[in-house]
Amino acid sequence: MREALDSLFEKAKTICILGHTRPDGDCLGSTLGWKNYLKTRFPEKAVTVFLMEANSKFSYLPGFSEIRHDIPKDEFDLALICDCGGYDRLGEYGRLAKNAKERYVVDHHITSSGEEFPYHTILPDASSTCEISFDLMDERYFTKEVATCIYTGIIHDTGVFKYTSTSSHTMEIAGKCMDKGIAFSSIIDDGFFMKTVNQQRVTGKVLLDGRLYMEDRIFASSLSMKDMESFSVDQKDVDGIVSVLRETKEVDGVIFLYEVGNNTYKVSLRSNNTALDVSAVAAHFSGGGHKMAAGCSLKGDVASILEKIIAELRKQMDAPDFPSNKQ
Ligand code: 5GP
Ligand code: MN
Repeated sequence: MREALDSLFEKAKTICILGHTRPDGDCLGSTLGWKNYLKTRFPEKAVTVFLMEANSKFSYLPGFSEIRHDIPKDEFDLALICDCGGYDRLGEYGRLAKNAKERYVVDHHITSSGEEFPYHTILPDASSTCEISFDLMDERYFTKEVATCIYTGIIHDTGVFKYTSTSSHTMEIAGKCMDKGIAFSSIIDDGFFMKTVNQQRVTGKVLLDGRLYMEDRIFASSLSMKDMESFSVDQKDVDGIVSVLRETKEVDGVIFLYEVGNNTYKVSLRSNNTALDVSAVAAHFSGGGHKMAAGCSLKGDVASILEKIIAELRKQMDAPDFPSNKQ
């Protein structure tokens, strides 16, 4: 796999690096990790990261300020696509990927089949795209800048090493990042845990508004755009809330909906039970993700969206042998 990617790098003069819309820590970490790596390994090549938007809480990542958000007319020799396995997840940049002479996907989403991309490394058991990226890199060019990016992706996608996707290999890579002298404590604390007062307050509202569904096996809550306005937060400020909802003992899973406009809600699903695969639920609604964390977008009001999601959850959870967490 590494040989195939290396030969694509060698052939290309211009490389664009792309990731999914609303890029998270793993998407930003992997795209910028590759950019920093290629800068050292192939300084003569023109390498540009394009992302639809990028949360400024990741501005500490080397190369963050050079991320481009425009739609260029250029045709690139190679599109390296990170943390995303389908053209539709690239938003406006799907066209850039299609127009490139070659494409290579590095991803770990269980819902990424790779069908659209003959050249790929898609490993659903890997903790993160950053972990796979590290394994595809030549360690001689693994600088402190690259390590800062890779470590960021790993901690965001493992919930700081607590999700079941974390392996001893994940920890080994994290150790190699630490050996480069990265600011690991602030990457975790400032980048992952610390919230503004408004974010804390709106999280409190979501928790208070949470309701139990499906014989108390699912905990769900939502935020409208009006709610976000009244707490002076926007969409990018609420993406950590679902992790707090997930920390609910007796339930098998949680649902968090937040309104994104156009009569549409973003749906975040988390499983607390290895028997519950939320990626199958998200995939039913043209979304995707992982067994324990997945998402999709749905039109309608909160009640009707919850009804649809619950009907899909019941397909798994009403099976007679489903081992519920409910006590
Ligand atoms: P989150 O709930 O944090 O937005 O996303 C959880 C996981 O599901 C992430 O790995 C994310 O990439 C994936 N995911 C979220 N929304 C979508 C979607 O609309 N389509 C696909 N394919 N994956 C999604
Ligand atoms: Mn990821």
